[in-house]
Amino acid sequence: MDDHQRSAREAAASDRCARTANDSREMRVDPGHPFLIEQIADSPIVAAAVHDGAALRPEVAELMALGEAERRREEDPFTAAWTRIAPTRLIGRRSRFEVDLNRPPDKAVFRAPEDAWGLHVWRSPPPAALVCRSKRIHEAFYAAAFETLRDIERRWDRFVVLDLHSYNHRRAGPHEPPDDPLRNPEVNIGTGSMDRQRWASIVERCIADLRAAEVLGRPLDVRENVRFLGGYFSTWVHRTFPASGCALAIEVKKFFMDEWTGVPDAVQLEAVERVLASTVPGLLQELGAFA
Ligand SMILES: [Zn+2]
Repeated sequence: MDDHQRSAREAAASDRCARTANDSREMRVDPGHPFLIEQIADSPIVAAAVHDGAALRPEVAELMALGEAERRREEDPFTAAWTRIAPTRLIGRRSRFEVDLNRPPDKAVFRAPEDAWGLHVWRSPPPAALVCRSKRIHEAFYAAAFETLRDIERRWDRFVVLDLHSYNHRRAGPHEPPDDPLRNPEVNIGTGSMDRQRWASIVERCIADLRAAEVLGRPLDVRENVRFLGGYFSTWVHRTFPASGCALAIEVKKFFMDEWTGVPDAVQLEAVERVLASTVPGLLQELGAFA
């Protein structure tokens, strides 16, 4: 069984939810499409923001114990805007508290507080049918991502996915000292699930270019696998496209925003996008791809 078949089988196995008569009604009141895949040009560079989303289906919102601000703290705001750096963009529109696209199918809907930084997510346990409808979004996203990446693989042989995230570093409180900078780089490149030797030139070029760029006149602290190794989406890319897909899980520390109020620093926000964009020419060069 090849990796494509294995992925399809696992996806099928994860969806043990029977379709119910309620499904079409619940889907009709859906707040827009749960994810966006956009291609504006032919290129082997893809950017993803699977945690940007904040929307909830009404049936999820009704049961949700967390307020919008609490949810936003754990989502990755502004990462969808950063995906403008690549001609192909994959963006999650739903809150990770509805369905987390960066977790495996069976863990994509948070249940217990230990799934969600100790937070009590639900007013009462979500019914199985609701959980199934959320899991189907996960399934649909991965099916669409597969089609998109397979097309790029056919045209370019190899491709790079910039799997963009942001992370909190003031968990102790807004007025407490931030988490230890030694263990929390400004940019953490997660390469834990890849064949590191196969993709060495891509990883090292990306890190070198990120370190060469500046934000507010200073270089960024960019390190590999210090805080994060990369989540399910990057792992899935490597498992599904083992010879052709290189996913770099890029976690940007929320130094460019106030993680407690959600307010960004516009200058730094734009500077981060510029720094991320500066890696694209080098990645194309290392891929041997010249569009
Ligand atoms: Zn994230």
